[in-house]
Amino acid sequence: MKVVHSVEDLRQIRREFQGSVGFVPTMGALHKGHLALIQNSKRENDHTVVSIFVNPTQFLPGEDLDSYPRREEADKKICEIAGVDTLFMPKISDIYREDEVKLKAPEYLGYILEGHRRPGHFDGVVQVVMKLFGIVWPDRAYFGKKDAQQLRIIEKMAEDLFLPLKIVPVETVREDDGLALSSRNVYLSPKERQKALSIARSLKRASRLVMSGELDSLKIKDEMQNMMSEIEVEYIEIVDREFRPINRVELQNSIILVAARVGKTRLIDNIWI
Ligand code: AMP
Repeated sequence: MKVVHSVEDLRQIRREFQGSVGFVPTMGALHKGHLALIQNSKRENDHTVVSIFVNPTQFLPGEDLDSYPRREEADKKICEIAGVDTLFMPKISDIYREDEVKLKAPEYLGYILEGHRRPGHFDGVVQVVMKLFGIVWPDRAYFGKKDAQQLRIIEKMAEDLFLPLKIVPVETVREDDGLALSSRNVYLSPKERQKALSIARSLKRASRLVMSGELDSLKIKDEMQNMMSEIEVEYIEIVDREFRPINRVELQNSIILVAARVGKTRLIDNIWI
């Protein structure tokens, strides 16, 4: 595995690749969720590039940019074992310049739900992902369904800007007890982790309700809220695949989303119906 820090070196390696290139952008502190993205990329491409870059422009003032878990050495080992061909670990100054051209997330999709709680977050996401695409120039790029709104925005960016690549969604990887894997789970104390389980449990309950014929969004959300009484729920929303809120669940076209705070840790999760 080649570990590359500069944009120029990555470009040089990219030019020498023959065959298809799969790309997995991450912020590091790698876990089994990231591994699933890497495995999908390896299966479908001749070369797999992983980036680790804690992108400052997607954090709002007061968020956890400084304390975000950084595990460079462990991450390198994980990538090596996973069979990653090239690991790209740029510095902030390699990626950002002064007074640069800026992309903006869509007015609607970029500013509801996560974008409403974290205004400007998705502007930073599209900015960095577009830059990384420009550097890596992948044939396929892999994103987790765990970050459903991010995934839709990136898909839309690829469509709207006519990017010659395919965005590949990957299923959410969970712990045995249902907790969705997240780099931020390390912030949870054992007691908080126990409480956080109510998020995945409420989503599972919601999907059972739907399977048993309950399609009324309000009733489903009420039941979920009751199950999450011990944590601070920011939102429970049921949307279609374009993220428009819906009053009735539509099979094959709905996503149930939750954001909640458990202690100081903010967690998101969802289920695709
Ligand atoms: P992050 O490092 O948190 O920015 O995540 C990098 C990529 O991994 C994003 O596309 C995420 O959606 C994806 N990801 C994070 N957690 C999971 C998970 N539990 N299952 C699947 N993909 C995930």
